[in-house]
Amino acid sequence: MFEHIQPYAGDPIFAVVAAFQADARPHKVNLSIGIYFDEEGRLPVLPSVQQAEARILAEGGAKGYLPMEGDAGCRAEVAKLLLGPGHAAIAANRVATIQTVGSSGGLKVGADFLKTWLPGSAVWVSDPTWDNHRSMFEGSGFQVNSYPYYDAATGGLRFDEMLACLRGLPARSIVLLHACCHNPTGVDLSREQWQALIPVLRERELLPYLDLAYQGYGDGIAEDAYAVRALADAGLTFFVANSFSKSMSVYGERCGALSAVCATAAEADLVLGQLKFTVRRIYSSPAIHAGKLVAKVLGEADLRAQWEGEVAQMRERIAGMRRALHDALVARLPGRDFGYLLSQRGMFSYTGMTQQQVQRLRDEHAVYLIASGRMCVAGLSRANVERVADGMAAVLKG
Ligand code: PMP
Repeated sequence: MFEHIQPYAGDPIFAVVAAFQADARPHKVNLSIGIYFDEEGRLPVLPSVQQAEARILAEGGAKGYLPMEGDAGCRAEVAKLLLGPGHAAIAANRVATIQTVGSSGGLKVGADFLKTWLPGSAVWVSDPTWDNHRSMFEGSGFQVNSYPYYDAATGGLRFDEMLACLRGLPARSIVLLHACCHNPTGVDLSREQWQALIPVLRERELLPYLDLAYQGYGDGIAEDAYAVRALADAGLTFFVANSFSKSMSVYGERCGALSAVCATAAEADLVLGQLKFTVRRIYSSPAIHAGKLVAKVLGEADLRAQWEGEVAQMRERIAGMRRALHDALVARLPGRDFGYLLSQRGMFSYTGMTQQQVQRLRDEHAVYLIASGRMCVAGLSRANVERVADGMAAVLKG
């Protein structure tokens, strides 16, 4: 029956995590998977989340099914978090938001929906992007192409080439864009670049599909929603999948959402209906605990304020680690430019290290990056940053 099945090569990122876990060296450092660790190297449990859970427990409550679209409070709070409270699109009922099984669930529901309703479109992702983007959209039956993005020569953005590529796409092409804290490069569009992109999206009648997985890790919770708000303010129709995995440190709870900002309330209603049908055909309805948790943390004023402070602490710790690694590397290799560590945003930096250098760093120094040279800066701490810099400097010297 199953002899013909091809072996699964494994996920490139989870494979590095498994290798790290099997490594017996006590001084090993995991800078591979996109997870925020605190100064002690632990996965934090945010006090705001803990208190929200205590309140949910105290309220009791049976564990019935949520509707296909998820918890109503969660959905309303997500729309406000993304667009800002009182946004005209929300007031006009032009936003269709569903709670999803992580933002991966949201991305996938959106992909299946789009394959049904825009069957002739192709998907365009940044070069490079999170590996799973390609897999997910190909899995939904799309042809997935890439647009120019990262400039290895400068550690910055190939913005002109990106725009030129998008200008040449057929109408209704789906353009996947990282709203902030680009994974894997850490290179984001500036506000001016978003504003230059908007007319191209509009004139070419492209469908932007934003992925906002790291809200709060760049410049701030509202600041990192800039792209979402700019597209909505410009009156574009677009999708956005957002995640709370990192911002609430609730990876395994699978808290995420998918929103479609539409031209009219009637369109949003149609989209919502078909999103519900898409969910029904895949997992029927999302998780009740995840929905209540997001609704509580975002919706109760004291928890919300506390959460925003906790996100700021995580963001500031990462910024401090970027600076510490930068300074430690400059001290070891004074002729080299490590400015990319300071200009790139969020959890990740593209170090420009080759696959061989990444391998040597792992073999000789027990420091784990992923093969592309992507580093999860959120795995650095005062306790390991000098050691990481020693290893990187040794490998970069050749
Ligand atoms: N998009 C990007 C760019 C990501 O890096 C991730 C997580 N690594 C996700 C989406 C999915 O996150 P989750 O499903 O946990 O919400």
